[in-house]
Amino acid sequence: MTEQNIDLYKELKKYFGFSQFKGLQEKVVTSIISGNNTFVIMPTGGGKSLCYQLPALVLEGTAIVVSPLIALMKNQVDAIRSMGSDIGVAHVLNSSLNKTEVNQVKADILSGKTKMLYVAPESLTKEDYIQFLQTVKISFVAIDEAHCISEWGHDFRPEYRNLRSIIKQLGDVPIIGLTATATPKVQEDILKNLDMPNANTFKASFNRPNLYYEIRPKTKNVQGDLIRFIKQHKGKSGVIYCLSRKKVEEIAQVLQVNGISAVPYHAGLDAKTRAKHQDMFLMEDVDVVVATIAFGMGIDKPDVRFVIHHDIPKSLESYYQETGRAGRDDGEGICLAYYSYKDIEKLEKFMSGKPIAEQEIGYALLQEVVAYAETSMSRRKYLLHYFGEEFDEVNGDGADMDDNVRNPKKKTEAQDQIVTLLEVINDTKQLFKPKEVILALVGKINAIIKAQKIDTLKTFGSGKEHDEKYWMALIRQILVAGLISKDIESYGVLKVTKAGNDFIKKPYSFMVAEDHEFSEEEDENIIA
Ligand code: ADP
Repeated sequence: MTEQNIDLYKELKKYFGFSQFKGLQEKVVTSIISGNNTFVIMPTGGGKSLCYQLPALVLEGTAIVVSPLIALMKNQVDAIRSMGSDIGVAHVLNSSLNKTEVNQVKADILSGKTKMLYVAPESLTKEDYIQFLQTVKISFVAIDEAHCISEWGHDFRPEYRNLRSIIKQLGDVPIIGLTATATPKVQEDILKNLDMPNANTFKASFNRPNLYYEIRPKTKNVQGDLIRFIKQHKGKSGVIYCLSRKKVEEIAQVLQVNGISAVPYHAGLDAKTRAKHQDMFLMEDVDVVVATIAFGMGIDKPDVRFVIHHDIPKSLESYYQETGRAGRDDGEGICLAYYSYKDIEKLEKFMSGKPIAEQEIGYALLQEVVAYAETSMSRRKYLLHYFGEEFDEVNGDGADMDDNVRNPKKKTEAQDQIVTLLEVINDTKQLFKPKEVILALVGKINAIIKAQKIDTLKTFGSGKEHDEKYWMALIRQILVAGLISKDIESYGVLKVTKAGNDFIKKPYSFMVAEDHEFSEEEDENIIA
């Protein structure tokens, strides 16, 4: 079929039973069918799969779908097969198949029966598979979870880096990259790495207006607080994320002892128990799953009413993905996270054995989590800004859905202070991260300040009348307002934007609130 003679709505109905496309789907499908390189950024639940499945079904040849997880591939393939026997067949090609099975898959591809071939990136490196794929008609290559390409994503997978050169060996086939999580830096990396700078890019809004965001200090009685919260939401489904398996077991037990129907889920449990607990949650035999991040990928339970982070995650991408599992049916979705700086230090410690570059990236991602947790500005605005999206915190959809907006802190005028701050960044040649900029403002010295002779500049100490915490809050707020930007490539060096330089020339009223103070007590208290 060619683009001209395809009735997309008819095909949509025929294969998927839907009468309407969702969001940007129609545009994406049209782009792929027309043979264009295409890049799709849509939040979880946005309907990404259909974006490549429909073109795969209507185009001549076989589409290769690269996906990182065998379990996810199996789900997808089963779902496609359940659509009916006359519908294009999907196959998985991976190391779990024996020789006879591989031959069967190859025969189906050659006969034109297979419309979608799911492969893990490492399978694609097999010379035998490549040679075979060179002999068949490939309609396009879809790369799911494309953020795995970037070291700046939260789930970097080195084998994704080789995809482009492998695809080149397959001839001139269009590529479609899809992801549910990509900061501007990660987006840039994906386009660069797949060598498709002019790809048609479709980005859906990441705003989830029905989700309510709240951060609570992680104090001694966090478990008591957790139990109270769950009891207030009795009978509703929820997920509680913890960092370690040990914590998962502990919290699950504490909840059970307190009369809450909860099960643990983590990679240390055997596959049977994991599957059982997952099913119990999906079938509503239990209300709560206490889990590590092993839980959730590909789970589509629409009525999860709360997602609680007992431990703060290691990046805002993870936070966004995990909280995104709440309220997928557009109903209530409360996202509660407990935060203590001690947990950040623990996460930093975990990273200490890794290569330096990885540590730096991990540290920069963690600082974003700290900023998000400590800020007193609109959490939705902060989060969306992180994903490269503007949000109107007064009139935007879901504007009042967070703790900060509902309980605003007193704001003070910061016009003059912002000028001082911007001048210090300029005076220090836009070479430093927040830490050094703040030291320069308050007139304190560390090794870098000394070595770079920042203490000899005329602006050194020009912000003495406020403390370091005040300046940190100000930096975070003017960053989101676009007066400064953070150079990710150099792990967070601050630059003054054009809007920032305009502000120096012509300052205007700018009200800011101080960040939250968080207690640093550990939770040791176990309620029996
Ligand atoms: P993602 O991969 O982006 O998380 P999915 O592809 O799993 O999203 O789709 C999310 C849900 O939306 C699925 O339940 C799917 O059946 C549904 N869906 C997708 N496209 C449509 C559509 N055009 N109309 C109605 N429902 C749709």
